[in-house]
Amino acid sequence: MFTPRCAAIAALTCLTALAAPLATAQDKVLNLYSARHYQTDEALYADFTKATGIKINRVDADDAGILTRLKSEGASSPADVILLVDAARLWRAETEGLFQPVKSKLLEARIPAGLRGADTGQGSSWFGVSTRARVVVYNKTSVKRDDVDTYEELADPKNKGKVCTRSGSHPYNLSLFGSVMEHLGPQATETWLQGMVGNMARAPKGGDTDQIKAVATGECQIAVTNTYYLARMMRSGKPDDQQVIDKVGVVFPNQQSWGTHVNIAGAAAAKFAPNRAAAVQFLEYLASDSAQAYFADGNNEWPVVKGVNLTNPALTAMGAFKSETIPISVVGMNQGKVQQILDRVGYK
Ligand code: FE
Repeated sequence: MFTPRCAAIAALTCLTALAAPLATAQDKVLNLYSARHYQTDEALYADFTKATGIKINRVDADDAGILTRLKSEGASSPADVILLVDAARLWRAETEGLFQPVKSKLLEARIPAGLRGADTGQGSSWFGVSTRARVVVYNKTSVKRDDVDTYEELADPKNKGKVCTRSGSHPYNLSLFGSVMEHLGPQATETWLQGMVGNMARAPKGGDTDQIKAVATGECQIAVTNTYYLARMMRSGKPDDQQVIDKVGVVFPNQQSWGTHVNIAGAAAAKFAPNRAAAVQFLEYLASDSAQAYFADGNNEWPVVKGVNLTNPALTAMGAFKSETIPISVVGMNQGKVQQILDRVGYK
């Protein structure tokens, strides 16, 4: 329908005019609210559209922003799938009734039960799609590996003035602390967090990458980070990043006891999903071999599906490790208590 009149005016205007009537009610769409802040995810979404013809409309916000938005939209929310990057947030959204259960033989077969939300017989309320470990990084010239190979030692007086972290209230830290509470109990966790505050080299600020850099420059000596931030720098061709990586050591803590804390990114069908079938199709796509390999290669996370081939050199270099075995949703249940402790001990 390329009319001469159309050809005479600006091409872009013309394309817009032609494209608009094509967006009919039969068009297959999926409205995705995503807290994944990784540019490399574009390929993941594009592959889904290519395979299914379902167009993805994406709303990007952080976990808290997405939850607030869902609550204010209520039953008129256009959201079909919610993608969050923290187990405690997934648990919160589940308990606040923002998700609907999905029963899928494929998802049950591929995603381990401990990495799924509650199942009351109608299916699981959410599904972990990738994992990331929360590890310790240290300055190799000033810190001995033995002094930081447990989370407990972050609070040890021998590490006074050496520790830096992002905000204690950031979901990644709340979930780590919630996990520690599950292993040590509330009392010991409070003592531990008090000790960590006492060991700070500086007030908490920045993101995980900023902590890794601060360890390299010597502004602090010991920090915690999610593994994918570290892997991203390991694979970076930038000389600045290489210099940082050369200076820091990495420890998977608590290998002799309960294992390293592992958090997840997870997805769920929204309670009022207008395109439910597409939502289920997308959830199943996220558990496919290709999407799982993508999480590993694109964003340096570990697949949740067993047997997916790892070709990521940074993940391979980090090696195998023992991870904790608690059901991941307990970090959500502990979160209220953790926040109260943080307020008491002054961990900003
Ligand atoms: Fe992140």
